[in-house]
Amino acid sequence: MSKSKGSESIKVVVRCRPMNEKEQAAKFERVVSVDVKLGQIIVRNPREASAGELPKVFTFDSVYDWNSKQIDLYDETFRPLVDSVLLGFNGTIFAYGQTGTGKTYTMEGVRNDPERRGVIPNSFEHIFTHISRSQNQQYLVRASYLEIYQEEIRDLLSKDQSHRLELRERPDTGVYVKDLSSFVTNSVQEIEHVMNVGNQNRSVGATNMNEHSSRSHAIFVITVECSEMGVDRENHIRVGKLNLVDLAGSERQTKTGAQGERLKEATKINLSLSALGNVISALVDGKSSHIPYRDSKLTRLLQDSLGGNARTVMVANIGPASYNVEETLTTLRYSNRAK
Ligand code: ADP
Ligand code: MG
Repeated sequence: MSKSKGSESIKVVVRCRPMNEKEQAAKFERVVSVDVKLGQIIVRNPREASAGELPKVFTFDSVYDWNSKQIDLYDETFRPLVDSVLLGFNGTIFAYGQTGTGKTYTMEGVRNDPERRGVIPNSFEHIFTHISRSQNQQYLVRASYLEIYQEEIRDLLSKDQSHRLELRERPDTGVYVKDLSSFVTNSVQEIEHVMNVGNQNRSVGATNMNEHSSRSHAIFVITVECSEMGVDRENHIRVGKLNLVDLAGSERQTKTGAQGERLKEATKINLSLSALGNVISALVDGKSSHIPYRDSKLTRLLQDSLGGNARTVMVANIGPASYNVEETLTTLRYSNRAK
């Protein structure tokens, strides 16, 4: 369903969450409409509308409204990407958007509710179901979990949470995180356990978990190795890597009048997000010979899983209410450029 030739491997979809109770109670106006058939998001900015401005229309590969079900997003948008990982390709799924718009809901959801679990637990099910049905292949599944905060990398599965990891590069394998732990997992339960451990570590040292998660990027990495006897009677190994990324909140941190440490932090958060936007738009454009991967830790780390044979899905999350309209438009512009 990708629109231009250059973007075969990159899809950008938008998901608008429902009004929450507070917004309903405060009777905020809904300014977002979603046209699922046309793949369009229409935003009416109340302030501009009164000045006679027309609503803004943005078109994406797919759009999802407040009634969208986790499993529909999975089946339509994520499943094909995970299938390609099972075939030995790399893939990356990003959740982008302002804090509170549903990034973590999309990525993780409500884990013990099958209806509301997000793409990470759904991919666990998918991968291990696929493996249990395969006959002539042998699989090895490994999981890693890391976080980028202020351009520093933390291994969320390590015992020592004060340690910071470095990016290294080798001519044969490319960019990798030195000393990143990875665990072999043999079942959905085992890989869920790995995720839980990482989530617990994520909150270690964070005085305010919401604030911390809105300022850091969390990357869950699943490596699927498949070995199979070929017709040549030789053993063939394919390795696919799936990166599941819950990005830092895209809200402009600087507008709150941050100073000193805070401002430095804000600049770094925005650095990774703007570098990501630049990489994706250069890839989508298809004409640029230079893809600026090196501009941030996030884009360097994901270099082998963005572009080339890799597949990418970016989910831009937005809220429906009028008081978010500026951030909503900013998110849609960022994502539209990435499309
Ligand atoms: P973010 O990670 O972007 O800060 P969250 O995923 O934490 O946002 O979502 C904020 C709140 O909205 C949570 O309570 C979440 O359960 C709820 N929410 C987000 N998206 C949806 C959705 N599509 N359907 C129902 N509830 C949602
Ligand atoms: Mg979150």
